Amino acid sequence: MNTKPVALITGANKGIGLQIAKDLAGHGFTVLLGSRDLGKGSEAAASIGPDAVALQLDVTDQTSVEAAAERVRNEFGRLDVLVNNAGISHTGEPGTPLEEIVQRGYVSTASRDEVRTLFETNVFGVIAVTQAMLPLLREAPAGRIVNVSSSLGSLQKTADPANPVRSLYGIYSATKTALNAITLKLAIELASTPIKVNAACPGYTATDLNNFQGTRTVEEGAREPVRLALLGPDGPTGTYSEEQGPLSW
Ligand code: NAP
Repeated sequence: MNTKPVALITGANKGIGLQIAKDLAGHGFTVLLGSRDLGKGSEAAASIGPDAVALQLDVTDQTSVEAAAERVRNEFGRLDVLVNNAGISHTGEPGTPLEEIVQRGYVSTASRDEVRTLFETNVFGVIAVTQAMLPLLREAPAGRIVNVSSSLGSLQKTADPANPVRSLYGIYSATKTALNAITLKLAIELASTPIKVNAACPGYTATDLNNFQGTRTVEEGAREPVRLALLGPDGPTGTYSEEQGPLSW
């Protein structure tokens, strides 16, 4: 069994996920970088150092998810932290202009394929990976699950007419609302265990997800997910927050 605690971060070959992996490695974890392209994951792991290992993991592919869980058990023997970070805001290529990303997401016009792929990745993928990793997390002394959500998933914020971004990212926002519900339900199901389950919004961060229009750096975006990954035994479970504090569901 690995002597150091082990953290798995999905979608860690770039963006906020890679930064979360860097930060957790800095906190003494062996970090497993989930990446659907193993080559990209290996490159990202090499940029961190010997405590980082790439793991082929496409969250929408059950075979890949199960193989990843088996590899974690066989090679590392433990899993202390799972960060469900992998996510997409649209199904277009990286570099898609922001206006097109917004256009593709309108509930009134989004294609069924767009809707399905976003839910497959941002919601069903999280459930699949969490279920596969849960046996290992249950064996950990202090398992932590962090779901990387978005303030766009807040229904209360969306219902507020004063919110300037409430009309944007329709389908994506709905996936994050569903993710929030999953987070809370799972936290309640696991309340009698040491495992804590929380949702974090990284804030509007410059990554491929928004064609680098975000205003925060990945270092800033990683802070809240990392804080929740490192919660002590007295830390909360079933919460939804950003770096500035709690978010309304
Ligand atoms: P990003 O740079 O586009 O990174 C997304 C990551 O998810 C990539 O590694 C991507 O891998 C991976 N991914 C996508 N589909 C996957 C799949 N089926 N299986 C496994 N991995 C998959 O975007 P980011 O901004 O860092 O996003 C990270 C998380 O933060 C997401 O959950 C996002 O919703 C959330 N978030 C971001 C912002 C923001 O402003 N950036 C705001 C709120 C929330 P590939 O390289 O293979 O595509």
